[in-house]
Amino acid sequence: MIKMIQPWRRFAGTAQAVVIMGLPFLKIGGESALRFDIPSLRLHFFGASVWMEEFFIVLVAVMVLTFLVVFLTLMFGRIWCGWLCPQTVLNDFTRFVDRGRGFLSKAGAYASVLLISILVAANLIWYFVSPYEFVPDLMTGRLGNITGSFRIALTGIIFLNLVFLRYKFCATVCPYAKLQGVLFDNKTLVISFDPRRRQECLKCNACIRSCPTGIDIRKGLNASCTGCAECIDACAEMMGRRQEKSLIGYFFGGPGEAGRMLRQNAIITGSVTAAFSIFFIYLVMTRIPVDMMILPNYSFPPHITADGGVTNSYVLSVKNRGKSNAELFIEAKALNGIAEVVPGRVAIGLGEIRKIPVYVAVKNSGNSSMIKDIEISIDSKKTDKLRITKRVHFMYPMSK
Ligand code: SF4
Ligand code: SF4
Repeated sequence: MIKMIQPWRRFAGTAQAVVIMGLPFLKIGGESALRFDIPSLRLHFFGASVWMEEFFIVLVAVMVLTFLVVFLTLMFGRIWCGWLCPQTVLNDFTRFVDRGRGFLSKAGAYASVLLISILVAANLIWYFVSPYEFVPDLMTGRLGNITGSFRIALTGIIFLNLVFLRYKFCATVCPYAKLQGVLFDNKTLVISFDPRRRQECLKCNACIRSCPTGIDIRKGLNASCTGCAECIDACAEMMGRRQEKSLIGYFFGGPGEAGRMLRQNAIITGSVTAAFSIFFIYLVMTRIPVDMMILPNYSFPPHITADGGVTNSYVLSVKNRGKSNAELFIEAKALNGIAEVVPGRVAIGLGEIRKIPVYVAVKNSGNSSMIKDIEISIDSKKTDKLRITKRVHFMYPMSK
C-alpha cells in the first residue's frame, strides 16, 4: 500500500486553521488566550498580561521567537512552509481557484474566496480586538471607522493574494523564504529527488504537474519550493504501479548522505532557544503586576511634628498592570524610629496610573539625624503576595 503524505498535510492544515480561528475565542483568566489589546497596549498571553512598557519581557519573547525560527529552519528546513504556514494552508483550501474553468465556475470560485477572505480578515483582527466585542459591534454597525476600514482593506488584500499571488507569494514576497537559503546547512531536512535511482525515473512528469510552483525537483533544490510534498505523492503513485517507492522523499541533507543530526550549530541554536524560553517563562511567572516609583513631593518640605518627630512627603506613582482592580496597603519602615504613613491604603483600577501623595512621620527623629533612609512598601496582603519595597532618602527641616 502506498503511503501518502497529503492526507496528513490536510489534517495538519485543518488543525492549524481550527486553532488559529478558535484561539481568540478561548479565554484564560477572563482574557483572550492570545491577543494584543491595542487600546491598552497589552499582550494577553495564555493567562499572563504583559504591557508594552515591560520592554524587557517583550524583548526576550522576540529573542525566543527569533532563535526558535532559526533552530527549526536549520533542523527541519521548510517544514513550516509546507505544513503549517497560513499562506500554504489557505492556498490548499482554495485550490478550486486554479481548477475553475468557464465564467460561472470562475465566478463561483471567486465568490467562495471572497467569503473565505472576509472570515480570515475578521480572524486576524480578533488578535487585536476581542471577537466578543467585534462580532456584536459588527452586527449593530458600531465597529468604528478605523476597524471597519482596516477590515475591508485586509479582506481586499487577502482576496487578491488568494486569487492572483497564491504560491508566487512564497517565491517572491515572503521574507522567511528568502532567509532560508542562509539558514540551511548540509544536514537540514529537504525534499529531494534521489539521484541514485535516476535510471528508474519513468519521465512521466507527474512530479512537475503536481507542483504548485511548476518546479522540476529532479534538477535539484529550488528556492521556490514550498515544501508541500505534492511531488512525493505524485511520484509515489506512479512508482507504486510498479511496486516501487517514490523517487522523491524527505532527506536530512540529501539522499544517501550520512552524518550526525546533532551537529555543533544545531546544539548551539537549540541550547540558546531553550535558555531564552526558560528565561521568558521565568520572567512571566515572576513578574509583579504593579509598578511603583517614588518621587519627592516639592510642595511639602520636611516638617517637625508636635511630638518632636519629622514628617516627609513623597509622591508614589503606582501603575496597576494586573488583570483586575487592586487594593494596596502602603507601609513605611525606619531603622531607628517608628514610621507612620498616611494614607495607609489605596485602590487602583486596572491599567490605572495613580500619583498618590503620602506623608511619612518618623517619631524620635526630630532630635537626631540618625535616620538617613526609610523604606516604603506597597503590599496587596493577598495570598498571591504582591509586595514592592523601595528605599528613599529621609530629609530634615532646613532650620535644624
Ligand atoms: S518541488 Fe514543488 S511539489 Fe515538490 S515540495 Fe517543492 S513545491 Fe511542493
Ligand atoms: S513523478 Fe517520479 S517517475 Fe515521474 S518524472 Fe517525476 S520523478 Fe520521474
